[in-house]
Parts: sequence; structure tokens; C-alpha cells
Amino acid sequence: MTALPADPPAKSLGLVIDLDVCVGCHACVVSCKEWNTGGYGAALSDQDPYGPNVSGTFLNRVHSFEVVPEGGTVVGEAGQARIVHFPKSCLHCADAPCVTVCPTGASYKRGADGIVLVDEAKCIGCGLCAWSCPYGAREMDLAAGVMKKCTLCIDRIYNETFAPEDRVPACVATCPASARHFGDLGDPDSDVSKLVVERLGYDLMPEMGYAPTNKYLPPRPRQRSAGCTGAPAAALTPAAPSPPGLLGWLDRLLSR
Ligand code: SF4
Ligand code: SF4
Repeated sequence: MTALPADPPAKSLGLVIDLDVCVGCHACVVSCKEWNTGGYGAALSDQDPYGPNVSGTFLNRVHSFEVVPEGGTVVGEAGQARIVHFPKSCLHCADAPCVTVCPTGASYKRGADGIVLVDEAKCIGCGLCAWSCPYGAREMDLAAGVMKKCTLCIDRIYNETFAPEDRVPACVATCPASARHFGDLGDPDSDVSKLVVERLGYDLMPEMGYAPTNKYLPPRPRQRSAGCTGAPAAALTPAAPSPPGLLGWLDRLLSR
């Protein structure tokens, strides 16, 4: 078994993920895979990538759910379906069970910044950490035979060859919707901590008692403009009749 740091980490670096603005584009998934395939640790392998049984190792995945609220205003109007995109990666728990269950010391939590990592040289691929993680955030790399997980891009965030504004995880740098934020959640005056307070951010499954560092911001109620009934919009009337000849044909073709 492996011990957690005796004292609380000096920092608690983590992510704040805004479920209200995530559009489920998977840009964060792709940038994470690209960065971590060429960076820290062994490459993130794929199996049968062009065959019928494709599978692979991803440190960040996005799951999409259709939610039909029964009431209340947190997700939307009662009875109206809404798609919620849910990005998921390691939450760098304060009381990480994946660390304490590890028989070799391969899984560990850093005292300086709270990041949970895997030392691949010590990992025997037993999978106990994956069984202990209630968030499904561990990924066995079948080619390397070792466990992988989000590193918060430690090879970016401390990389002094990068401009200061680029020293953020690849997923944060890539997100086109600015749904992902990075910072010290142990500092109540940090921008991410203020954002969590302002938007009523929450822990995932707090009842498990593992105190995840990452926070999620809930979807906000939909806003409708005055007079909007929610009925499908009427067909738009063209501003001008279609031009004659070749231009008209092209216009009609592109309008299909
Ligand atoms: Fe460990 Fe899972 Fe918590 Fe990450 S989310 S620290 S893998 S228990
Ligand atoms: Fe959501 Fe941003 Fe990831 Fe796209 S890149 S799926 S918007 S978190």
C-alpha cells in the first residue's frame, strides 16, 4: 500500500469544468491524446484502430447525456430535454484511493501541488487503482501494460520554454468554448476558486469521501427571448428572389 502526503499539499492544482458551456466537440479529448502520446510517459496506444473492435487509451473522455429535468431550475425547465456534455478525467482527489491501494508505490500524490501521478517504471499493471477509482478515471494501456491517467500536463504547466499564458493543460488551451479552467483550488483567492463560489460549483459524488480537487459548474436554466414559444421556427422567407441563370442554379443548389 502507498501513503498519501503526510501534510496537505501546498497547492491543489486542478480543473474547473463548466457543464453549461461545454458543447461536446471533443477538442479537449483530441488535444489530450495528441499531447500525451508524444509527451510524459509511454505513448497512449490504440488497438485495432481501423478494425471492427477499436479501442484505445484516453486520459480525457466526454460523455453526452440527454437529461429531462423533473423540476427545479438547475438544469432546465421541467419536462424539457436537454443534452449535457460531461468531460471526465482524473479529479486529483485529496484522499485518493487509487494511491493508497497501490501495492508498489507506482501511484502517488505530489506534496507540492496535489497532482496524482503514476510512475510507470514501478507499475505492474495489476489494475487495483482502476478498481478503486469511483470515477473511472484510470486507463490501462494494453500495449505498454501500465496504468495511465491525467497528469494535468505537468510537462506543460511547469515548462519554462512556454509563454506563461500557455502553461496550462492541453485541454484547457484547446477548448474553443472556454469550458475548462485551470488553477489552484486550494487558494480561496484564485480565479478558479472564485469561479466555483460564484457558479455554485460542486464535487462529483462527494458521498464517496475522496474529496476530488476538480470541480464542475452546473448547467444554468435556459433563457428564452420574450415571445418565444419553443415551437419550431417558421421557414425563412428569402430576402430576394433567386437570381436567373447559372447564379440562380448555384444559389438553389447551395440552399438545399
Ligand atoms: Fe485516483 Fe480516480 Fe481520484 Fe483520479 S479520480 S485521484 S484516479 S481516485
Ligand atoms: Fe467541451 Fe471544451 Fe472539451 Fe469541447 S473542448 S468537449 S467544449 S470541454
